[in-house]
Amino acid sequence: MKPKKSAEKNLEIRVRGRVQGVGFRPHVWRLAHQLGLGGEVFNDGEGVRIQVAGELEALSVFRQRLESEAPPLSQIETIETQELEKTVGFEGFAIVESVGGKTQTQIAPDTATCGACVTEIYTPSDRRYRYPFTNCTHCGPRLSIIRGVPYDRPSTTMANFPLCPECQREYDDPGDRRFHAQPIACPVCGPKIWLESLTEKGALGEPGKEIQATISRIEEGEILAIRGLGGFHLACDATNPEAVNRLRQRKRRYGKPFALMARDIAVIRRYCHVSAVEEETLRSAAAPIVLLNAEGGERLPEAIAPGVKTLGFMLPYTPLHLLLLETLDYPLVMTSANLSHEPQLISNFEAREKLIGLADTVLFHNRDIANRMDDSVVRIVAGKPRLLRRSRGYVPGAIALPPGFERSASILAYGAELKSTFCLIQKNQAILSQHQGDLENPITYADYQKNLQLFQDLYDHQPQFLVADLHPEYLSTKLAQAHAQSQNLPLIQVQHHHAHIASCLVENGIPLDTSPVLGIALDGLGLGSDGTIWGGEFLLADYQGYQRLASLKPVAMIGGTKAILEPWRNTYAHLKAAFDWQMLEDKYSHLELFDYLQKKPIALLEQMLHKRLNAPLASSAGRLFDAVSAAIGLCRDRALFEGQGAIELEMAVDRHLLSASDVDFAYPFEIIDPPTSPLKRGTFPTALAKGGWGDLRAKYSKSSHKPLYLDPRPLWHSLLEDLSQGASTSVMATRFHQGLIQGIAHLVEKLAQNCQLDGLYIEKIALSGGCFQNRILLEELTANLEAKGYQCLSQAQVPSNDGGLSLGQGAIAIANLDNSTNIYT
Ligand code: ZN
Ligand code: ZN
Ligand code: FE
Repeated sequence: MKPKKSAEKNLEIRVRGRVQGVGFRPHVWRLAHQLGLGGEVFNDGEGVRIQVAGELEALSVFRQRLESEAPPLSQIETIETQELEKTVGFEGFAIVESVGGKTQTQIAPDTATCGACVTEIYTPSDRRYRYPFTNCTHCGPRLSIIRGVPYDRPSTTMANFPLCPECQREYDDPGDRRFHAQPIACPVCGPKIWLESLTEKGALGEPGKEIQATISRIEEGEILAIRGLGGFHLACDATNPEAVNRLRQRKRRYGKPFALMARDIAVIRRYCHVSAVEEETLRSAAAPIVLLNAEGGERLPEAIAPGVKTLGFMLPYTPLHLLLLETLDYPLVMTSANLSHEPQLISNFEAREKLIGLADTVLFHNRDIANRMDDSVVRIVAGKPRLLRRSRGYVPGAIALPPGFERSASILAYGAELKSTFCLIQKNQAILSQHQGDLENPITYADYQKNLQLFQDLYDHQPQFLVADLHPEYLSTKLAQAHAQSQNLPLIQVQHHHAHIASCLVENGIPLDTSPVLGIALDGLGLGSDGTIWGGEFLLADYQGYQRLASLKPVAMIGGTKAILEPWRNTYAHLKAAFDWQMLEDKYSHLELFDYLQKKPIALLEQMLHKRLNAPLASSAGRLFDAVSAAIGLCRDRALFEGQGAIELEMAVDRHLLSASDVDFAYPFEIIDPPTSPLKRGTFPTALAKGGWGDLRAKYSKSSHKPLYLDPRPLWHSLLEDLSQGASTSVMATRFHQGLIQGIAHLVEKLAQNCQLDGLYIEKIALSGGCFQNRILLEELTANLEAKGYQCLSQAQVPSNDGGLSLGQGAIAIANLDNSTNIYT
């Protein structure tokens, strides 16, 4: 120990955030050693605590580098520094055992192989040369292998692999990159790969040559299953049309595009345009699938992504993937291995049973996957990466809550039904689960329940309130109700579109006490507080509540959910709402569309409409997209997945035409007063209405103006004229997009004027709901509204589809708990 100098100081530094299990203590240790400081560092229940002594100047450098050189997986929230009164005599600098009761670990997301590990697997002299499970403190599996708490090796699927002496030495050495990294392994002690035929018994290929054997099978056009980080993939040569078609047939998946993996950006560039932001996203530690415009010199078979002009590419994110792709100068299809509608397979046992008929051969490994992690999906829109599916690489990264939410209650929000996620809120942060999928599938639903429990265990989360959607038939709502009853907890039910808007506000850091914004929620469907189906909503909203200022004019969904799968039903309903059928017959019977519709059981539909039998009215933007898409002959008879029509419609837009055309080019929309039964003023929270929220009602009836409809009827006149004149689908798709954008913009101005008359000034406009995954809609509407002086908020780190709903649900619940007019008393 150095002799003490007069300028010496003692500091206590407390670091909060994701600082455990990410190599933070060794980082502190190395810094202290380099700077010749004495002291100690340890984990406790709140994060990392450092006591450090040394010269003033060195301490200041220490404090600065603590943050600037923090390990890649750490996420510092706060650093508090305090001078210690008494002088602590330290012998050197040490990492000491964790103290202070239960250590609450923040878990990092699964992370793509880091540069140092990549170097090792390509260095022949390294003991991890070509080892497919190489990882370190800065990379590798995390949530995907965690079974329980505390987060250390025995509670992960690495429990079966005791460390060999060499690995143990690395694990114990604070100077090593693998110090206390739980998933580390090497060829001596770690997991292994093997190749197996599903039809013949026994392993295939020579040991040590599995990767080569896999590649030669791919080159021969075979479909293989490959066990990865968060599940199994089905893989084949993406440039082999026969293999790709065979995969489609086997998987019985005919519509949705297949994800692709390529060795490097250069290979991707042959097929797609890759912007700087897109490249950065592809190369990020999360390594998601990025949707790219297929504008390269070369083309992939149509069956990769039928009907769309984008391709979803990712880069290899594990050593196994790196080794597989190393020699391939063409992309592989890497689609999740599952049967249609079922979740991705994760266990070897399941795989052997369920992959028969899908894959011929399987590249297995024996590092079990504890938690299914789908590949995340990102699209760059308006220059920002937007998550469409948030899972591997991002979850369980915490989302900081905006000012005002500091001392919030512990909340568990159950999300929606499709693309479901759930959300834990505690202390100032929200933990959003990975994409769970569609709960109506029993395996997905069982997984969702398992994960709810796992996350609560991992975060030692004891909810004080449960939150669910207003829809009584969502399985998530039913489960929340059952839990509320069995655990004797209050349940708050939140209106769907209000939750979309709140989700958008949270991720944009809008404080709890914000003045109301104009929320535009466009999606497929959600239950409104008036009991009807909503989906094209204009809400004056803050976290606590909302007032429905306007909506798309409701149109019948004939056959209920059948209208989602059979888009033409929406065309029929929209035409019926816009015209007298006789007039249509007189004027447009020459149209192919008319012919098509005539062949459908129109008399029956007519009866359903007339008697209001299974033909609920819905103000759904999603169904309007379906109706137009089917009318112009894109996705008409059957949609293979929800939103297919909208995606094809977007893809048909001619961007040059869009920017070159003038106002008159747009299909017209009309703003009208609701004719007879005006829109009910939906006000949150309906489920709590019995509790007495008179003040809330007063607050959210701020606008004295009657709610309005945005009526698409006029667009149908123009569209039928276009059809008569043989306009191209791309002209019609472009005119529709422009019409919708201008219709919305006009409505916004009208609503803002009305609000102004009531003394309310609209400055911010929050855009959310699944329709805003549409690049043209989001980019052009934002540009239009910002040119008028509004500030547009949109979603990026959280999906704007129902995958982001649980975050909004949680925030709304908190806002209402903190309300002084306590709704519970
Ligand atoms: Zn690494
Ligand atoms: Zn080892
Ligand atoms: Fe929704």
